[in-house]
Amino acid sequence: MSQQVIVTTKEQIQEMKKHYLSQLTSTPQGAIFRAKTNNAVITAYQSGKVLFQGSAPESEVMKWGDVTLNDKKKPSSEQKHSYSPQVGLFTENHIGSDEAGTGDYFGPITVAALFATKEQQVKLKQIGVRDSKHLNDTKIKQIAKEIARLQIPYTLLLLPNEKYNKLQAKGWSQGKMKAMLHHHAIDKLLQKIDVNSLKGIVIDQFCQPPVYKKYLLSEKKTLHPNTTFITKAESHSISVAAASILARARFVKAMDDLSADANIELPKGASAKVDQAAAMLIRSKGSEALDKYTKTHFANTQKAQNLI
Ligand code: MN
Repeated sequence: MSQQVIVTTKEQIQEMKKHYLSQLTSTPQGAIFRAKTNNAVITAYQSGKVLFQGSAPESEVMKWGDVTLNDKKKPSSEQKHSYSPQVGLFTENHIGSDEAGTGDYFGPITVAALFATKEQQVKLKQIGVRDSKHLNDTKIKQIAKEIARLQIPYTLLLLPNEKYNKLQAKGWSQGKMKAMLHHHAIDKLLQKIDVNSLKGIVIDQFCQPPVYKKYLLSEKKTLHPNTTFITKAESHSISVAAASILARARFVKAMDDLSADANIELPKGASAKVDQAAAMLIRSKGSEALDKYTKTHFANTQKAQNLI
């Protein structure tokens, strides 16, 4: 019996929990989850520490990135890895890619990728593009329109709920869906631009790069050259910040359309308000309707059923 420890982010731990969903066992105190596979018992703690113990812990650790790159003092979100952007890339001509809707029970996932030259980055800043976490939905819609007017090349993809639920039932994790959406968005964008002027691609990191590569490989795709990953990318890269605004604006629009279609104001997020709206939807249209409006595997489905 041997053991290995990695230190990672809360987001990644949620991703791991989803991955091991069918193998969860009772959760010890101070832990987020515990799972048991043939290779190891995996325990994820609130601190971000994940312990792998058993006959072959390394075969589980492998799925979650290169542990040798982990600096034990810092959570991995702040760590450099072999896919970190080179110094200076953020001010060069680069593609940025980001998604929206992943934590929302209602509505699709949207992903946008945008290519901005140095000059276009200045223009994006001028129209108010910045980290969308600091912008409300009205402002986001307005800036998204202005980005479209600048004629900067971008692609925007939307994964409707029915399709999401189908993939989920097929065993796809949300991480894999996101990875494939980013990949396709970037793929389509690369066909529209002069790749010779491209210095690199920045993806807002949502999982360890080796995990992202594994997702692509499972669909026989490979990483585009010069792809880099960094967390909170929208605060470093104006291309990612603009992509983030486009993805969010498309998500907000989709939510408006779905709300109109359902005849109920569908709230964003995954709170108790969301459970209540879902319960209303079930009462008016039956539980089958959830497939069209929600990410049915979220815990909100059960909570809404309990309200009926
Ligand atoms: Mn993001």
